[in-house]
Amino acid sequence: SGKHIDKEKGVNIQVIVRCRPLNDEEKRLNTPVVISCNEGRREVTAVQTIANKQTDRTFVFDKVFGPNSQQKDLYDQSLWPIVFEVLEGFNCTIFAYGQTGTGKTYTMEGGARKKNGEYPSDAGVIPRAVQQIFTILESQQAEYNMKVMFLELYNEEITDLLGPDEAPKFVEDKSKKPIALMEDGKGGVLVRGLEEEIVSSANEIYNVLEKGSAKRRTAETLLNKQSSRSHSIFSITIHIKEVTPEGEEMIKCGKLNLVDLAGSENVSRSGAREGRAREAGEINKSLLTLGRVINTLVDHSGHIPYRDSKLTRLLRDSLGGKTKTCIIATVSPSIQCLEETLNTLDYAHRAK
Ligand code: ADP
Ligand code: MG
Repeated sequence: SGKHIDKEKGVNIQVIVRCRPLNDEEKRLNTPVVISCNEGRREVTAVQTIANKQTDRTFVFDKVFGPNSQQKDLYDQSLWPIVFEVLEGFNCTIFAYGQTGTGKTYTMEGGARKKNGEYPSDAGVIPRAVQQIFTILESQQAEYNMKVMFLELYNEEITDLLGPDEAPKFVEDKSKKPIALMEDGKGGVLVRGLEEEIVSSANEIYNVLEKGSAKRRTAETLLNKQSSRSHSIFSITIHIKEVTPEGEEMIKCGKLNLVDLAGSENVSRSGAREGRAREAGEINKSLLTLGRVINTLVDHSGHIPYRDSKLTRLLRDSLGGKTKTCIIATVSPSIQCLEETLNTLDYAHRAK
């Protein structure tokens, strides 16, 4: 007797849900599990007990990954085809959305690179995507060039994670021109003052990623930022030279954005405490606008409010139109998280 919710599949937006396993602490405390995943039926069911009455809510998604799913399963079954499209000249975005502690960063980054330079079996989406891109480019013996950007959005302010090593010392230097967004007149946006690093091998990208992540951590500590409140965006842009059967040279351009969003509890907890109010409002802005942009795209319901937040302005040329989007909604199985889990499932389901 569960409420069953299903909508028609959105054209180019794929929504998948991943539920993490209980952690050791939760197991030790015998925390009740209230989420069940049926991967075959692509269903997630939340069991809610209100006044001794049990109600189930079942949601259907494009794909569901239960607590035993491995990083490789998720990648090979859901993300591989999207990354393939990047090399065909599409702009694609993969988001991790969910409450803090549910596995966004684990899903996107996963286990760190080992001393011998290899990634472990629990490597996440980003290293797997990089690996796939180079495997395909090499097999095609393609002529290409590639650049990457890595930035953080906190309080609607952009921090370049690849800039020179001046940060964090000068991060708050008021004389330094802030990074600014400008429309390029072609539907995209230019980011002034942001480093773009040219790369030509998977290893070079891995080095860039590690440099950026380290910079993010130091800045956070020094400026007392709360990492759960920031969005990180890692973008790879690839130009591939192609020769048509007629012998004509063409350049195919594709872009992949890999986005680890701020904790979704920042959206729902809008009744923030005094001092945090502005900050919470600003976080809400990007997450809320992202939700609105996606809903408008899915429902074809008119004006798309890209301009309302930095996140959606940055990703404008990769959301809607001839692009592919995947949202990975991460949830916890625990009863303690139920309210946020339902918020996440609702948000994700509306994007379908
Ligand atoms: P978030 O980025 O959403 O705040 P994290 O990725 O940091 O969450 O995950 C919180 C903790 O749970 C980490 O210790 C992480 O390794 C662990 N974890 C998350 N998802 C999984 C999973 N699917 N399998 C195993 N451990 C996980
Ligand atoms: Mg995280």
